[in-house]
Amino acid sequence: MPNTSVLVVGGGFSGITAALEAAELGHEVYLVEKTPFLGGRVAQLNKYFPKLCPPSCGLEIQFQRIKKNKNVKVFTLAELVSVSGQKGDYTAKIRIRPRHTAPGSADLSELAGELPARADNAFELGLAKRGPLHLDMPFAFPARYVLEKDELRAADLETLEDNEFIDLEETEKEIEVCVGSIVVATGWKPYDVTRLTNLGAGALDNCITNMQLERLASPCGPTGGQILRPSDGAAPKRVAFVQCAGSRDENHLNFCSYICCMASLKQATYVREQYPDAQVTIFYIDLRTPDRYQKFRARVLADENIRTVKGKVAAAAQGEGGQVVLTVEDAVAGTKSHETFDLVVLATGMQPTLSGERLPIDVPVDEDGFIVGGEDKGIFAAGCAKKPLDVMKSAQSGTGAAMKAIETVRR
Ligand code: SF4
Repeated sequence: MPNTSVLVVGGGFSGITAALEAAELGHEVYLVEKTPFLGGRVAQLNKYFPKLCPPSCGLEIQFQRIKKNKNVKVFTLAELVSVSGQKGDYTAKIRIRPRHTAPGSADLSELAGELPARADNAFELGLAKRGPLHLDMPFAFPARYVLEKDELRAADLETLEDNEFIDLEETEKEIEVCVGSIVVATGWKPYDVTRLTNLGAGALDNCITNMQLERLASPCGPTGGQILRPSDGAAPKRVAFVQCAGSRDENHLNFCSYICCMASLKQATYVREQYPDAQVTIFYIDLRTPDRYQKFRARVLADENIRTVKGKVAAAAQGEGGQVVLTVEDAVAGTKSHETFDLVVLATGMQPTLSGERLPIDVPVDEDGFIVGGEDKGIFAAGCAKKPLDVMKSAQSGTGAAMKAIETVRR
């Protein structure tokens, strides 16, 4: 008899969905997430398609379902060490890093405020610092702070001494779980735009990525939801979006990232809602808004302050007063021009997390890092581990992977 339990690797939207679908059909599920919290990239967004709701609305429902379902065992700060066995009978070894805070959801915000913020805040994508005791978002799951012990200084240790909610002695541990099938939902990461040296990311303060703009627009982000220029905190009046920043380029990502045209249209509305006088320009090669998103595109582009230019941005350079000067090759007019903006947003492509990384699972990936097989072994890819997808399609993909994983262990 095959083992009917399922291992889900990755606690983003598709992984959570896969875990819940399997658990609600009676299967024991182990959900393994390497960061301190569930939610993945969706948790970093200000709003997501198709309803343009905040991430808390979709994620909190999922988190409630997880809380109520005893079949789901969640391991955060956890990574797969090894997987052995075969379809129907796998043994997975999982390493769990210490959280150093007591179980439960004690409000440690006051204590966290006593520890100075000095480390780059990965959740805020370089737009803010954070202290060693942190909870990345107000709707975090688990709602339990994490303490980065390695970042503590002597004065911090004194502050934490004898605090009943802090456990500095907690150590790393390894556990083993036995499962019949595996869902790999390792998600995606934004393409490293500092490799696009011509486009100014990493070199020009006011040249940011689309994911950074999500954080600036988010009410729980580093500016409390105000879209401000990183260089001086000024409100931008002229904003440019540069499409295909790293995608559809044989020197970078040799595929269309699927979401970034819709993301820029959505983000143009963020800018226009905050700044009624702002002018937005979207430089594109193709504006890809499939199926149901055509109506959204038409609605956004009906705004006369949002202009689209079919042209390739060849370069970004520092202008006066923090402005960014773009060199644009207009594909229709066949001309080259220079335009100046207060803020430039690079529509950065999505790269599978597994690009350049290896999971200890015997599953094939293509040259870009997308999973392209494994089903014959009872291993099923979900969400953006398989191909670029939006949130709704990621959830559908998670459901599909869960159904296949269940079918495998029922045989
Ligand atoms: Fe380029 Fe749009 Fe495809 Fe993104 S979705 S890679 S911006 S065409």
